[in-house]
Amino acid sequence: MRILIIEDEFSLADVLAAAFQKENYLADTAYDGESGCLQALTGIYDAIVLDVMLPKMNGYEVLKKLRKENMDTPVLMLTAKSELDDKIKGLDSGADDYLTKPFETRELMARIRAITRRKGIVENDSLTFGDLELNLKQCTISNTANSQSVQLGKKEFQLMELFLRNQNQIITREQIAEKIWGFESDAEYNNVEVYISFTRRKLNFIGATARIKAVRGVGYLLELPSGGGKK
Ligand code: CA
Repeated sequence: MRILIIEDEFSLADVLAAAFQKENYLADTAYDGESGCLQALTGIYDAIVLDVMLPKMNGYEVLKKLRKENMDTPVLMLTAKSELDDKIKGLDSGADDYLTKPFETRELMARIRAITRRKGIVENDSLTFGDLELNLKQCTISNTANSQSVQLGKKEFQLMELFLRNQNQIITREQIAEKIWGFESDAEYNNVEVYISFTRRKLNFIGATARIKAVRGVGYLLELPSGGGKK
């Protein structure tokens, strides 16, 4: 899962990003409304934490713009005051939830889990495909048929999660690069190929029947051999 934190208090934004990263999320930060809005519009985020008082564009304006562009990414708003008007305004602008500052990071994370769950981005401890199981807490993949298991590196884990959340769908190299490398570096498509090959080796290592198939000139697909496994 990839989270965007739009918050102009650098220290708070960075603390939140670190807390999400610790829980194996990818987290990006934006420090003003305008750049946050542009980042959000890429559509690569599974949830957005959005402060109300922001330079350039306030949180309500950002949210209205996103909803106007038909982005239904779950949004949790951070309001400075616990005034009813602020909460109503936030919810009316299309927020899924709000939290009043100051708050505990643990509560914010629980609320993010709740709103992504409500949007159907199911957050269990594991994702499965046939006999393949990805443990989201421990970052391991296992073969449930032979109990073989292996630890994944950070990027391998993100890649596997992306495939398991989009089963039997072709994911383009561009989508993989954007979702996993995002804005943090110049995501070369070479990176994608390198990590696909690492991940394939690990799938082989545990004897998984699922495989990452290359779709020439388009991207990749996680699939089970025909007739094998269950969806
Ligand atoms: Ca602020």
